[in-house]
Amino acid sequence: MPPTRDDLARLDAEDPLAPRRADFVLPDGVIYLDGNSLGALPRLTPARLAKVATREWGEGLIRSWNQAGWIDLGRRIAAKIAPLIGARADEVAVADSTSVNLFKLLSAALRMRPGRHAILTQADNFPTDIYIAEGLVGQLGPAYRLQRVAAAEIAAAVDEDTAVVMLTHVDYRTGALHDMAAVTRAAQAKGALMLWDLSHSAGALPVDLGGAGADLAVGCGYKYLNGGPGAPAYLYVAARHHAGFRQPLSGWLGHADPFAFEGGYRPAAGIASAICGTPPILALAALECGIDGFAGVDLGALRAKSMRMGDLFIALVEELCAGQGLTLASPRDAERRGSQVSFRHREGYAVMQALIARGVIGDFRAPDLIRFGFAPLYLRFIDLWDAAEALRDVLASRDYDRPEHRRRAAVT
Ligand SMILES: *Cc1c(COP(=O)(O)O)cnc(C)c1O
Repeated sequence: MPPTRDDLARLDAEDPLAPRRADFVLPDGVIYLDGNSLGALPRLTPARLAKVATREWGEGLIRSWNQAGWIDLGRRIAAKIAPLIGARADEVAVADSTSVNLFKLLSAALRMRPGRHAILTQADNFPTDIYIAEGLVGQLGPAYRLQRVAAAEIAAAVDEDTAVVMLTHVDYRTGALHDMAAVTRAAQAKGALMLWDLSHSAGALPVDLGGAGADLAVGCGYKYLNGGPGAPAYLYVAARHHAGFRQPLSGWLGHADPFAFEGGYRPAAGIASAICGTPPILALAALECGIDGFAGVDLGALRAKSMRMGDLFIALVEELCAGQGLTLASPRDAERRGSQVSFRHREGYAVMQALIARGVIGDFRAPDLIRFGFAPLYLRFIDLWDAAEALRDVLASRDYDRPEHRRRAAVT
């Protein structure tokens, strides 16, 4: 028997994370199942942005680099991200976008493994990960290559020519979760470095880069971390690699002494050399509000809620929408799933548009996936019931056949 709405209301009443919902602005009439793509707005962010703009920028002007601590803001945020990903504060930097950070770290990895020429990745990794690797090997010349294999073949495909294995921890389409420690061991056993993309992991489940022995990682600030649209990203370089770490975007703020204005580049010691140029202070201020939302949160409780939500949503949808052409695209075993559930449907795009028109916001990923993300900080169990019921209504009424639900927008 699937749970009733009353069962779910009881889970909300017992949920230790339930009070966190009040920390977010969530519009009435909206069930937000897209926190894995753009996290919700923390209640404190608008006032913080107003303060940074009017007081620190407007009145403080350039003095605020020192007096308002702007120059240290990225480092402060990195130290707050570190415990979410199992890193030390001095192994994390906040900068640029995930795409740019991938370029920096892949370049550095190839340099750390001279004589090896391949970047190995999952064939259907997130597009920007693949595109950035393509751009990098294209620039380095014909000796270098990007090798793409199926998820199950990754470990076996690592060989003496593999410089770095680059994987996304949680698959953006299906939510399938890699075994970070096992894959890292397999890569390193053959002498390769291991780079994890944590974009769909951090803030949704505990990550232990240190425990897994990972070498490098990147991740996104605007998904589960709630840093705002286009928020700065983060990167991780294990401390044991700092001495040999050189990345090619050798901008002045990664210099050992930026305000000496020396004639040539000398990298800063440690993670600081991963920085390129001047940090976006308004965007960092918003990101810090997002990260602060995790202060005091028990990541084990977060993961437990997320796994339970996924299990319940699968059970509800399979019961309420039986016979309506949906197939589960995510692992059924919560241990092997991130914080999202996806279903395939022939009319997936239109089905999602019809759901969004009813205030149930998930997203669509080509060719046929409807995707529902569960941000455990602000989602309620009853939201799952209401979303599954809306999905049943959309499918049973064939509401998705209406022409307005079939027009493709630029962002899906
Ligand atoms: C969201 C996401 C990105 C985003 O990269 P941007 O540079 O911020 O556009 C990269 N990789 C993965 C796996 C993602 O899920």
